[in-house]
Amino acid sequence: MALETLVTLEELKDLRDHWHNAAESVGFVPTMGALHEGHLSLVKQAKEACQRVIVSIFVNPTQFGANEDFATYPRSLRSDIEMLKSLDVDAVFSPQAIEIYPAGFQTFVSNSEMSKVLCGAQRPNHFQGVLTVLMKLFQLINPSMVMLGKKDYQQLRVVERMVEDFYLPTQIVGCEIVREQDGLAMSSRNRRLTEEHRRVAPTLYRALQHIQQSFQSGQRQVAALYEAGKRQLEAEKALQLQYLEIRDQKSLEAIDGFINRPAVCFVAALLGQVRLIDNIELEHP
Ligand code: AMP
Repeated sequence: MALETLVTLEELKDLRDHWHNAAESVGFVPTMGALHEGHLSLVKQAKEACQRVIVSIFVNPTQFGANEDFATYPRSLRSDIEMLKSLDVDAVFSPQAIEIYPAGFQTFVSNSEMSKVLCGAQRPNHFQGVLTVLMKLFQLINPSMVMLGKKDYQQLRVVERMVEDFYLPTQIVGCEIVREQDGLAMSSRNRRLTEEHRRVAPTLYRALQHIQQSFQSGQRQVAALYEAGKRQLEAEKALQLQYLEIRDQKSLEAIDGFINRPAVCFVAALLGQVRLIDNIELEHP
């Protein structure tokens, strides 16, 4: 089957109805494009689980703050489409912003708690933008399953919460982080790192691994775990740490003192203009 490239809501709804009438399961992979192996692993999991797979490519303006990188976010639609063709994806939806936010648009989906911490503390309307665009896409596509990466762990949990809170008939699947050989979590933003910053970037994962090793050898004190990671992060002068936090895997509530439930260690840092995030789950093997 040839890849269908859709840009209008009408085209998208027609295809959705066609699949719905044929009672085919639909896997949906929302992205902002500039695709890499991390995105492709989500697509492959969708292909395995569902009869039809649709990928959206949309750099969503409402999830970027005024001083963030919306204008410079990497865009490579043509080569993205070629990659998706080679994976035998059924459809790509890449609308213009006016299609998603037409004149008169005024309704947003917001989350009151989990979206206020971590990335949400630094990017105040970010998750409102993410939830709003995903709610729109879920309504338009009506997917059986949605594949989301654990790379954006907070996003995964906030979206799961929305699906639960609004009784949406879709299953959210959290997919493991795909990394470069040196451990750096793949990200579209990695393309914008200078050579020097690219060399420093894997420090984030090395610090997380250090924390995980310390955890696995029995350390449960949050303060001691932070110490272990912070030393490595602070040794790299180019790295501007934004947060290093250990939180509950599901609720994202802060864990103080001792870790006594499944946890995640989250990190965010700036390397020049480029903001990188990463995380690692802390649980016994
Ligand atoms: P983005 O295009 O950055 O909005 O990402 C689209 C989807 O791909 C999100 O669900 C991300 O969590 C996921 N993703 C991005 N990078 C990775 C990665 N390195 N490994 C796994 N999933 C990823």
